[in-house]
Amino acid sequence: MQPLEVDQIRASFVNCSRGEAKTVTVPGEVPWADRDFLGWRDPKAPARAYLVLPYEGEVIGLALRAAPPARSRVSSNMCAFCSTTHRVSDISLFSGRRAGKLGREGNTLGTYICANLACSRYVRREIQPEIPQPNEWLTLEERIERLEDKVHRFVARVLESR
Ligand SMILES: [Zn+2]
Repeated sequence: MQPLEVDQIRASFVNCSRGEAKTVTVPGEVPWADRDFLGWRDPKAPARAYLVLPYEGEVIGLALRAAPPARSRVSSNMCAFCSTTHRVSDISLFSGRRAGKLGREGNTLGTYICANLACSRYVRREIQPEIPQPNEWLTLEERIERLEDKVHRFVARVLESR
């Protein structure tokens, strides 16, 4: 993605208050060219997570909340964005208020994704998940395309009633 300025990031949020947007801790050094979206958890408040990306000619930022780790009988789960299989402890349910009318009515949307929001790094094999992955024969370009497609679908649903 193209590099973003701190002001652009702060101005991008569509589903939180201006007050919260102002207090967001924005990450420092970002290797922009190797990121499909900027995703991070607030180091001062780790349950707060943010996702910022170019979307249909705009910069869209989403404020999300990470649910506390669930007790689960299954041992692994797959990230809904990058399709990486993780131990359940490395996957989190993130949910965010929807933008516009639906959000004002209290409507939220959740998705299970990499707890560290490092999907761009997993698809590029910059980092490896803790557990073996099922065989898959996609190229890097195809993995990136799939990730972008899934993130965009999520953003579209958040923005549906904007
Ligand atoms: Zn992921």
